[in-house]
Amino acid sequence: MPHPPIDLPPEDFRALGHRLVDDLADFFAAMPGGKVTPAESPAEVRALLPQGGLPERGAPAGDLLREAVQLVTRHSLHNGHPRFFGYITSSAAPLGALADLLAAAVNPNVGSFSLGPVATEIERQVIRWVGELTGFGADAGGILVSGGNMANFVAFLAARRAAAGGDIRAGGLHAARPGVVYASSETHTWLQKAADLVGHGTAAIRYLPVDAEQRLVPEALDAALAEDVAAGKLPLVVVANAGTVSTGAVDPIVRMSEICKRHRVWLHGDGAYGALGAVLPDAPADLKALHLCDSLAVDPHKWLYVPLEAGCTLVKDQRALRDAFTYRPPYYHFDAVAEETVNLFEHGLQNSRGFRALKVWLALRQMGRQGYAARLAEDCALARRLFEGARAHPELEARSHNLSITTLRYRAAQPDATNERLLTAIQKTGEAYLSNAVIEGAFYLRACVVNFRTQDRDIDALLELIVRLGRELSQA
Ligand SMILES: *Cc1c(COP(=O)(O)O)cnc(C)c1O
Repeated sequence: MPHPPIDLPPEDFRALGHRLVDDLADFFAAMPGGKVTPAESPAEVRALLPQGGLPERGAPAGDLLREAVQLVTRHSLHNGHPRFFGYITSSAAPLGALADLLAAAVNPNVGSFSLGPVATEIERQVIRWVGELTGFGADAGGILVSGGNMANFVAFLAARRAAAGGDIRAGGLHAARPGVVYASSETHTWLQKAADLVGHGTAAIRYLPVDAEQRLVPEALDAALAEDVAAGKLPLVVVANAGTVSTGAVDPIVRMSEICKRHRVWLHGDGAYGALGAVLPDAPADLKALHLCDSLAVDPHKWLYVPLEAGCTLVKDQRALRDAFTYRPPYYHFDAVAEETVNLFEHGLQNSRGFRALKVWLALRQMGRQGYAARLAEDCALARRLFEGARAHPELEARSHNLSITTLRYRAAQPDATNERLLTAIQKTGEAYLSNAVIEGAFYLRACVVNFRTQDRDIDALLELIVRLGRELSQA
């Protein structure tokens, strides 16, 4: 038997592609009526895959694709389901799936202009538009990456290079004074990974206290900077949360910016989730002040509803990225166009780069600023409905509502243990999916509404489910 060819003749591609698109349209139509998750165990899931080692011989593409559609649509957790409220993972705009197909079919390498000409310019336009949408600035430099962690990581490296000077790139940590990083205790765990992997160690992070609304206390930042500078240390970066991961709290960015300017320290905004909330007319004033940051991380795969993966680093001055990342090896001859455009491999960690910009670019054009403003406002209103519903219910305690994140819990004699069990019970039903937050040491249920399919009735059903299972658990 001959080996199956890796190429698909255009007629086969057409037939398989049409069939796949039909299957996916059915999937989208059926999803809201089904469960959020089949809640299968790892062993159950593994049993669905081909058993044994790597296949020795190939198989026809059409059979494989049909099987993959069944496997993936039936055995996944559907974050596009209207009752998915877990973590900050959005429903994905269907146009993004088609954009990824187009991007993969043409397959430009967006590492350099010459290898991805239109893709490079589309990515640069996306960066400027995300800069506009977030209020960071329409002339922002930046780069698209895989997600919030990487977007923050890239900004961290740019800030560090700016603080420590060019010698740190050859001399490493020996070439600089001991560095310190400042952030509130509510900061996402990317900061630990960054401080660790870049070599400063997590001990270089100075976690600062927050107020009752989980916002960094600016006086503590001011004092910490003064103390460390007096002790001969080198402040590398101050991180401001533009929407904390747990509760959506926005740090006092205006005050933090004044302090950073006075101490001449780079202010980085972690807006992976919240930065896009700046488009809301009633956004907190600090969220409207993202232009005060030197860099900003934004996740298009969160509040732009772009399919995974898409993160974005923005910097005020594009040269900061080149200063942090570029090496020009003799085997690259890309310099000819460098005056008029950029070669994006010089602006980040990746070398070969995919065309993730296309799905973001199409999303921004499909919705426009007004479309996003209206869409995000709906998510916030739904989160508010959940908060008010919990507040009005005698068995529930509403804890916080910021942007589109609400935290609440079922009232019980032992609230932490009961709500931990309640969370697991809710996740197992497949009727809705929640995550949790720990606020001032106490365990809460956390609902993130980053979902264009969620409606009022889904919020009401969620409240009912929490109360029903909460009662069962506290009576057991
Ligand atoms: C989600 C999130 C991150 C991490 O982003 P990923 O896309 O999951 O890598 C970082 N910071 C904040 C505030 C977030 O909400």
